[in-house]
Amino acid sequence: MKLDILSIGDELLIGQTLNTNAHWLSKQLNLIGFQIRQHTTVSDEKTAIVTALNDALTNSNVVIITGGLGPTKDDLTLNILTEYFGGKLIINKDVYQDIEKMMTSRGYEMNELNKQQALVPDNAKVLRNKNGTAPGTWFEKDGKIIVSMPGVPYEMKAMTTNTVIPWLKEKFELPVIVHKMIYTQGIPESQLAEKLESWENNLPDTIKLAYLPSPGRVKLRLSSIGNNKDQLETVINLQIEKVKKIIGEHIFSLTEDELQVVIGELLHKKNATLSTAESCTGGYIAHLITQVSGASDYFKGAIVSYANETKIESLGVNANDIEQYGAVSKQVVEQMAIGVRTKLKTDYSIATSGIAGPLGGTEEKPVGTVWIAVASEDEVVSQMFQFGKDRTINIERTAIAALGILRNIIIQ
Ligand code: AMP
Ligand code: MG
Repeated sequence: MKLDILSIGDELLIGQTLNTNAHWLSKQLNLIGFQIRQHTTVSDEKTAIVTALNDALTNSNVVIITGGLGPTKDDLTLNILTEYFGGKLIINKDVYQDIEKMMTSRGYEMNELNKQQALVPDNAKVLRNKNGTAPGTWFEKDGKIIVSMPGVPYEMKAMTTNTVIPWLKEKFELPVIVHKMIYTQGIPESQLAEKLESWENNLPDTIKLAYLPSPGRVKLRLSSIGNNKDQLETVINLQIEKVKKIIGEHIFSLTEDELQVVIGELLHKKNATLSTAESCTGGYIAHLITQVSGASDYFKGAIVSYANETKIESLGVNANDIEQYGAVSKQVVEQMAIGVRTKLKTDYSIATSGIAGPLGGTEEKPVGTVWIAVASEDEVVSQMFQFGKDRTINIERTAIAALGILRNIIIQ
């Protein structure tokens, strides 16, 4: 069953608003069994909207539209849809009361614009809006469904969850779609693909595989579509077992948990603590760790030792070593890890020192050179990485690589 998402709004096209609606709707509607055929974004303009709608209706069974339902003149969607499906606008008493109640609760009187928002097409079903003034509408034509909802994300989300999804499930016999993710780290996409080539060639036709790379990680998605959820899961799980045998050491999650969550669970289970000494990551690793609720159980803190003096004074790094080997070196990063572990009295520590760029590189240590060390009671493990030229990506990759080394040490 195919579904199109049509986003309407000038603000989306000029880069003022990120189209989060299409992203969220795709996820929710794919989960209940729709194949999302296409995202289309058009301006608040009649020809553009009608052209996009014609195309969507030719190719899909369902069209979900968001945006253009505001009370002001720039929002045209409702009038265009009403005309397109040959209806006329009439006042809907329930919607009128909804709007009146909402305005009164906010301390406003109903004005003309609010009253206009109680106008709904006489050839559509109404989707009541508990969180705002613009109702949604549900048209049916030649067995196809066309839904129009407000652009405001939380209004659209509530309407989708409470009404649109239950109605769509009633209307269509939807297949089950199962997606399973394999999160990997520490191996580039090309090498991963090489290792998995023969496994991939022998995948059953019913399973689709996708590689989703992001800095320092590659996520593999296995998808299957059918009628029996248990059966689909069994077939996919069998393939995941095979992948584990080939690249097991690179897999950190089969539950869609990011590294910081996985590490949090490991530390929590071990009753162990962590600290970080961060130069080139500037506290980003601490930020990732503390995004996880419950991090206070195991994370003691970070020393953002950006300047050499801070490395010396706060972490006890030997000034001569900085002079001799440079701040971006095995000697210094190892001392940083040992220093923060001792100072903050933790079981494990991470240290980073590198040239994030775009400035600061030398012939010997070009931009993207990064040293990472992880210290535990038993050992200090350090490794050099040569990343690229982009500062933000280098910081992200350093953090992921550091968390990857820490994870390997914790689970060994
Ligand atoms: P509208 O229904 O066109 O009046 O949209 C109201 C507000 O919702 C806009 O000002 C945007 O901030 C937001 N909005 C509209 N479309 C989207 C979208 N596709 N994704 C995220 N926000 C949106
Ligand atoms: Mg708009």
